[in-house]
Amino acid sequence: MNKDSHSQRKINTVAILGGGPAACTLAILLRRAGLQVAIWHKPKTVPIIVGESLVPAVIPMLQDLGVEDMIRDFSMFKPGATFNLSKDINFSFFFKNLTGTTATYAYNVPRDKFDVAMLEAAKKSGVMVYELPANIERIEDTERVRLTPDTLAETNGFFKQHPDLIVDATGRVRLLPRLLNIASQEGGRKDAALFAHVDKTHLDYEAHVHTTRLDHGWSWRIPLPGRVSLGIVVGAEHLPQFGETKEERYDNLLKQDSVLKTVASNAQRITPVMEYTNYQLTSEKMFGDGWVLVGDTAGFIDPVFSSGLFLGMQGAFKLADAICDGSREAFQHYESEEKHHLKTWQEIVSYYYDGRLFTCFKVGQSMRDNFLIKLLYPHIDKHMGRIFSGAASTSPYSIGLLRFVTQYGLKGEDPRELMIR
Ligand SMILES: Cc1cc2nc3c(=O)[nH]c(=O)nc-3n(C[C@H](O)[C@H](O)[C@H](O)COP(=O)(O)OP(=O)(O)OC[C@H]3O[C@@H](n4cnc5c(N)ncnc54)[C@H](O)[C@@H]3O)c2cc1C
Repeated sequence: MNKDSHSQRKINTVAILGGGPAACTLAILLRRAGLQVAIWHKPKTVPIIVGESLVPAVIPMLQDLGVEDMIRDFSMFKPGATFNLSKDINFSFFFKNLTGTTATYAYNVPRDKFDVAMLEAAKKSGVMVYELPANIERIEDTERVRLTPDTLAETNGFFKQHPDLIVDATGRVRLLPRLLNIASQEGGRKDAALFAHVDKTHLDYEAHVHTTRLDHGWSWRIPLPGRVSLGIVVGAEHLPQFGETKEERYDNLLKQDSVLKTVASNAQRITPVMEYTNYQLTSEKMFGDGWVLVGDTAGFIDPVFSSGLFLGMQGAFKLADAICDGSREAFQHYESEEKHHLKTWQEIVSYYYDGRLFTCFKVGQSMRDNFLIKLLYPHIDKHMGRIFSGAASTSPYSIGLLRFVTQYGLKGEDPRELMIR
C-alpha cells in the first residue's frame, strides 16, 4: 500500500493483533485465500464478556466460516426480540417472518465459549495463534508501525521478516490508534453500561432478547443457558444516587427502578458486575501504510439492537477482500463502506433513543383499521425487521423508508414520551 501507488501490491503475510470474533473471521478468510496469517491473542481476564446477543445476519457468516454447529451446541436459540417501552407499549419481532432475506433465527451466546470456538476454528484453518499480548512500535517520523522485536521473535521464524500487513483487532483496547494518535469520533451518548449475569428474570417471550425502557436509560435481558445476562445502560450522572460501588449500583437499580423491579425483583446476581463507559467511538482513519483496523477498533456504535458482532464480522469479510486485492483503492473502499455502515447504525440507534422509532410503531398499530395503513403496515414492518436483523442495514430503500416513517409517521404524537431518558 504505497501511499501514492494505484497499483496492486501482493500481501502474503498478515499479523493480526487480538483474537476476538473480528480477528478470527478475518484470519480464517485469509488462510482460505492462501495467505500466511498469525494472531496474537491476549485472552480477556474479565469473568463475563459483553456481546452475547447475535442478530440473524450473523448466521450466514457463521455458516460460511463452518462454525455454526459448534456454536449452536452451547448457545440459546434466539427466535426474536421484544421491546418494552412502557407498561402498555410492547413490541415483539419474530425472526421467522424474515423469510427470503437472511436467517430466520439467531443465537444468544456465552461469549467466553463463543470466542474460544472462533479461535479454535482459526487454528484449525491453519492460522498460527500466539496466546500472548502483541506489541507494536512506531517507526520513527512515520505513520507506520511494526511488531516489536520481542513480538516478532515469538513467531520462532514463522515470520522470517516483518509481515506485509498489521491488522489491529484489539477491540476497545485500540492499540494502534492510540500509538499513532488517530483521531476518533465519539457518539453523542455518555452512558455507562453495568452488566452481570443473574439466575432468572421474567421474560415476555422465552429466549427473546428483551430491551426495556427504564426510569433512566434502558436494560437488556439476554437469556443464556441456565442464566440471564442483564445489562443496565444509564446516563453516568444518574449512577451515584444508587451507591458507591458498581455492585451496589447494579443491585440497587434492580430493586429501585420502577420497571426493573417488576421483571427482576427475584433475580439473584451470580457474577461480579462489569462496567463499560465511552464505548461509542469511530476511528477517523482506518488504514495506512502497512496497517488496517477492523472490528471495534475501527468503530463501535451502541449496544442497543446488538449490532456489534455483526458489524465487526461483516467488516472482516470486506477487509479480507481488500487484503486479497491489495490495492490502495480496495482499502479506501473498505474504509468508506465501514464508515458508511457505522454512520447508518448511528442513525438507526438515534431513532430508538429519541423515541421516534417506537412512536411510529405505536401510531401504525393504533391505525391498523385505516385502509392505507392496513396496506402499508406489513410492508414497513418487513423492512424494519430486515434493518434490525442486519440484512438490510445498508439497503438504501429500507433505510430511506425508516427515515420517511420516522419523519412523517408520528401523526402528532410526541416522541419524547417514549424517548430514553
Ligand atoms: C455494553 C456493551 C454491550 C454489547 N452487547 C452486544 C450484543 O449484545 N451483541 C453484539 O453483537 N455486540 C454487543 N456489543 C459489542 C461487542 O462486544 C463488540 O462489537 C465485539 O466484541 C467486537 O469484536 P472484536 O473482535 O472487534 O473485539 P473484541 O471482542 O473486544 O476482541 C478483541 C480481543 O483482543 C484482545 N487484545 C486486546 N489487546 C491485545 C493485545 N495487545 N494483544 C493481543 N490481544 C489483545 C482482547 O483481549 C480481546 O479478546 C456490546 C458492547 C458493549 C460495550
